[in-house]
Amino acid sequence: MRTAPFTLGRAWDLLESLLPLFASCPELDGVEPAGDVRRFEALVSALVIVARAADPERAIDALARQRELTDVVERTARRLVVRFRLAQVDVRVAPRDEFGTVLFTATGTAAHVSAVRQRTTPGFAATEPDVYRQAGLPFIPPEIRAGTDEIELARQGRVPALVAREDIRGDLHMHTTFSDGRDSLTEMVTAYATLGYEYIAITDHSVGASASRTVTIDQLARQRDEIERLREQFPSLAILHGIEADILPDGRLDFPDAVLAGLDIVLASLHERDGQSGARLTDRCVAAIRHPLVTVITHPSNQLVGQREGYDLDYPRLYAAAAETGTALEIDGAPGHLDLDGEHAREAVAAGVTVSIDSDCHRARSLERQMWLGVGTARRGWVEPRHVLNTRPMAEVRAFIDAKCGQG
Ligand SMILES: [Zn+2]
Ligand SMILES: [Zn+2]
Repeated sequence: MRTAPFTLGRAWDLLESLLPLFASCPELDGVEPAGDVRRFEALVSALVIVARAADPERAIDALARQRELTDVVERTARRLVVRFRLAQVDVRVAPRDEFGTVLFTATGTAAHVSAVRQRTTPGFAATEPDVYRQAGLPFIPPEIRAGTDEIELARQGRVPALVAREDIRGDLHMHTTFSDGRDSLTEMVTAYATLGYEYIAITDHSVGASASRTVTIDQLARQRDEIERLREQFPSLAILHGIEADILPDGRLDFPDAVLAGLDIVLASLHERDGQSGARLTDRCVAAIRHPLVTVITHPSNQLVGQREGYDLDYPRLYAAAAETGTALEIDGAPGHLDLDGEHAREAVAAGVTVSIDSDCHRARSLERQMWLGVGTARRGWVEPRHVLNTRPMAEVRAFIDAKCGQG
């Protein structure tokens, strides 16, 4: 039985419950999520977990005795498929000298696996790097195993070092209870301070957004006072006061320039199609890109993972305008967005666009998770640290913002 696909966010919720069960199983000496999750696919069809054990059959016995794993769909000496909270979980247990091969195969994609296999003789490897070595290739990160051009580029030594979570110095997009966030400004900032960021931007929704709650111009002044207080309380964290402004149907922003000019950073977004064609939506987005106060266009396609396709924009036009004006396009790490997706992100950076990887977080406890999902999505797009605005120190981010304002 196959279950309906679910979002990467839900997959990680399930894994957070499942992985401790594996960690507490003494028969296992290594566990890795594989499959769609390891490749950061926005929609996950099955949770695949690969574990390592000296004696796989004994390990399967031990796992199947766990109360949470008793709804068994299929069981063999090295595989246990169970239903867990309406999701199908596929566990493969490999002996140590085969772990690399099993992890590689279970990670996919099928096209990537078969292309690597064509370069090697059948056999087993203890680690994934060994699998690639046997095929005469450098290690290829899971996020780019699409089965397209990655093997040829790896063969030529042209797979760059992809951006990693450790490269991220700040988060430029999040919400508080001033708009539709679940946690207060103080709670969000306090949570950030523990994550080791150098800077963050508070960017609540402006009045034009269809969000359940938005921030008014009057409330922005109150928010500024609160931010001032928090800056004193957290002197090592730079807190930018920003906004996620709405791009109106005619391409203008929903707050006057005089208000936007008083903020440290302005993000702009299309939250509603308003019945417009792709061409008209593109005009609207390009108008925002050309606005001198706009630094980042958030979740440009406005896709809703599993529910709504991204807008049919003229993406090359968007990339050209963003590159020309020095406007960043966002890779949004909210599990419902993951937008730009890997494919668009790869096109964008190839066109010279700077991207910004943000959490778009609405609650403090998801801050780290959503940044991590954003980074994984960026890696699917072959994004390197040099392409990313928020891998740069605060002074360079301010220079990026000012350079554009200076054009106006
Ligand atoms: Zn938004
Ligand atoms: Zn947002």
